[in-house]
Amino acid sequence: MAKDYNKGDLDERLAEREWMVQTQLMGRDITNEAVVNSMLIVPRHKYVMEDKQEYAYYDTALEIEAGQTISQPYIVALMAQALELKASDKVLEIGTGSGYSAAILSSMAAYIYTIERHDILAHFAKERFQNEGYGNIEVRVGDGTLGWTEKAPFDAILVTAGGPVIPDSLINQLAIGGRLVIPIGDKGEQKLIRVKKTSTGELKEENLGQVRFVPLIGTKGWSELNNMNLE
Ligand code: SAM
Repeated sequence: MAKDYNKGDLDERLAEREWMVQTQLMGRDITNEAVVNSMLIVPRHKYVMEDKQEYAYYDTALEIEAGQTISQPYIVALMAQALELKASDKVLEIGTGSGYSAAILSSMAAYIYTIERHDILAHFAKERFQNEGYGNIEVRVGDGTLGWTEKAPFDAILVTAGGPVIPDSLINQLAIGGRLVIPIGDKGEQKLIRVKKTSTGELKEENLGQVRFVPLIGTKGWSELNNMNLE
């Protein structure tokens, strides 16, 4: 008989999350306890469309509304770990999407500001945060490549879409000691880059590996026109 995950028993899905953490995260290089705990707690199946819930704990990205994706669990954990969060940190996320990564970050930092360019995604994410009782996440619709000036500076900035260059606006909104994690490359493949702003304001860049993200579209990203298939 097909499983009804909406009515499904939470323990069953917890067992799946435990399996996901064991096989997909700890078997790789995810060692940060706060990240592991958060990945165990947040119900990923509630952040995907109904017909995808069955696959929510598989080692894969999944399609969400507006032709976008919820990232592979391992990549979400890798980025969360790379941010080196402290409980007092103020975080900016660009690319709310389903809301899943913001929910993962919410127990690891003081406050999460997240920006999404698609209304429909921001709407569903807000609904999920309300239903799940997250009181420390604020969602805004807009062009995240410009950051969120009124709330800057941020201790950590996470960009969950791939851009051609690191937006200077985000560098400017990063606090001293802050970390920015962003996929940079072409539309097919990117390098996951971490930039740290040192105590002297100097920028230190590291390459954390190859990734594949949907495009970062905006003033300091790819243009929407170039992203259209004109054939
Ligand atoms: N963090 C998301 C999650 O957990 O589901 C992953 C979302 S998906 C990989 C990337 C998102 O970035 C898409 O929802 C896309 O619409 C959004 N995006 C792309 N360019 C953007 C921009 N300039 N500002 C805000 N959101 C943007």
